[in-house]
Amino acid sequence: MIKNIFLDLDDTILDFRKGERAAISKTFCRLNIPDSEETIERYIQINLDCWRALERGEMTKAQVLVGRFELLFKELNIDTDAIVAQEIYENYLAGEHDFIPGGKELLEELYASGKYRIFMATNGIPSVQYPRIKDSGIGNYFDRFFISEEIGYAKPSKEFFDECFKRIDGFKKSETIIVGDSLTSDIRGGINAGILTCHFNPRGRQYGSVIPNYSITSLDELIPILNSIN
Ligand SMILES: [Mg+2]
Repeated sequence: MIKNIFLDLDDTILDFRKGERAAISKTFCRLNIPDSEETIERYIQINLDCWRALERGEMTKAQVLVGRFELLFKELNIDTDAIVAQEIYENYLAGEHDFIPGGKELLEELYASGKYRIFMATNGIPSVQYPRIKDSGIGNYFDRFFISEEIGYAKPSKEFFDECFKRIDGFKKSETIIVGDSLTSDIRGGINAGILTCHFNPRGRQYGSVIPNYSITSLDELIPILNSIN
């Protein structure tokens, strides 16, 4: 029976893609950088590559945050301070908290059932995540927030999960599942940690080497799955 749910935040409960686009577009405007679709797409790709490098242990969080802007500005051949850009972006991003369809309803229902302890597991930045959690009104649904920067390790490392597990009273791996949209951090992380995994896969991606125990294309499919696990 599942008693502990590790839940990813970005693109699982909150719509990070939408927030990221809005925040980066505002940042470019503020810095007088043309916010063309092409430039925004390029930023998104570079950012993604940087986070993948972090997941592989090849970049630190600090290197990702500023490095993504350094790389972009170098490519665009513009002379803008990456540290300033990062600060402006972070501020705008902290104000973005649209839900993934069904995200709030899922939290309400899990919480109301009284059957689960819900733990947020995110690699995001505390100064961005906490305002978004507060403004979206979801803070009360969680027992604890496990934010990589505060834990000292990031998903998918086993160390991240071991640190979280230590902080949960009466914790058992067999009673625990992680739910998230990322195969490289959530699902690989859950597999590394020896817990069940459920991939939120709204675009129906095909699986390769990382295969979750469960897969859902819409968040309302989760509760029936949890109920089916003995
Ligand atoms: Mg995510």
